[in-house]
Amino acid sequence: MPEFDTLAIVGLGLIGSSIARGARQFGLARRIVAIDGDASVLERVRALGLADLATDDLGAGAAGADLVILCVPVGAVGAVAATLGPALKPGAIVSDVGSVKAAVVAAVAPHLPEGVHFVPAHPVAGTEYSGPDAGFSTLFSGRWCILTPAEDADAQATARVTRFWEGLRAIVETMTPEHHDLVLAITSHVPHLIAYNIVGTAADLEAVTQSEVIKFSAGGFRDFTRIAASDPTMWRDVFLTNKDAVLEMLGRFNEDLAALARAIRWGDGDALHDLFTRTRAIRRGIVAMGQETAEADFGRARPSEPERARSLEAPKPGAAQ
Ligand code: NAP
Repeated sequence: MPEFDTLAIVGLGLIGSSIARGARQFGLARRIVAIDGDASVLERVRALGLADLATDDLGAGAAGADLVILCVPVGAVGAVAATLGPALKPGAIVSDVGSVKAAVVAAVAPHLPEGVHFVPAHPVAGTEYSGPDAGFSTLFSGRWCILTPAEDADAQATARVTRFWEGLRAIVETMTPEHHDLVLAITSHVPHLIAYNIVGTAADLEAVTQSEVIKFSAGGFRDFTRIAASDPTMWRDVFLTNKDAVLEMLGRFNEDLAALARAIRWGDGDALHDLFTRTRAIRRGIVAMGQETAEADFGRARPSEPERARSLEAPKPGAAQ
């Protein structure tokens, strides 16, 4: 028996469409309703066969649902909850996937009627791609999903959402929204900010041409460009809604960066070596927990020798032929 009869997903982007695919593949809902305000997204949902019904009508789409998952950017969840709240049936469960939790709780909870349960969630899984074509059913497999239910939340509703995410092959952990936001600020939000910043700085450098930045990007920069290609709307909302925790962690980061700069200036090789040894151990710990591949170069396929030679010979754009 599926855990839920009708599952409604609001926002069929990377995360929403991955949930739809996984729920279908792993038999977690009898019926799937896809709700999205974008006509082109709904067209793709129908073409890909991701749902039994695809609609732009929030109220009608969510009306009969047993579980409604909000998969829209964090800045949009409040308005979505305000529209669909009155249509929800008693006993329905509302959840979300937002990368920030305290602001989502504050924005959504006031709009949910008595008898509707709210179990906020954040699957710590994603890619730099967006939209319904980017999703895949195993996105959450072996990844963490953090639930942040209120202290007085309905235990049965939390247990059902836990089983749903376990059905998507995720590993579920529970914490408070505030703790979630602090932890994710340092593990996800600040790293994204650093990536956006370093790629922006490189793009602005007039002395180093853009083509050289691209050509020699294997030296660490390339991995930043992957993160810095993440969805602009989603990440704008993350920084605006997790402001305090991000600024707190950024303050710590800046202090540590100043200490590193001092070590370089004064030739303190021991300080540098000590830090790099500690950070290497952290990387090994992440690989050991199955959250990253141990393959060299993150498992990327290496270009063949002829491909490499061709790319190095390629003329710079704008160079005299
Ligand atoms: P996405 O691929 O851009 O998809 C978002 C979808 O929501 C789009 O189809 C968008 O339509 C739709 N949408 C936006 N505002 C809406 C509204 N007011 N009403 C109805 N639909 C609306 O984004 P995503 O990566 O799946 O992210 C969705 C959520 O997942 C965010 O809250 C994010 O914090 C969270 N999350 C993301 C990741 C990740 O790595 N991407 C990981 C974990 C959690 P349009 O095409 O018209 O914009």
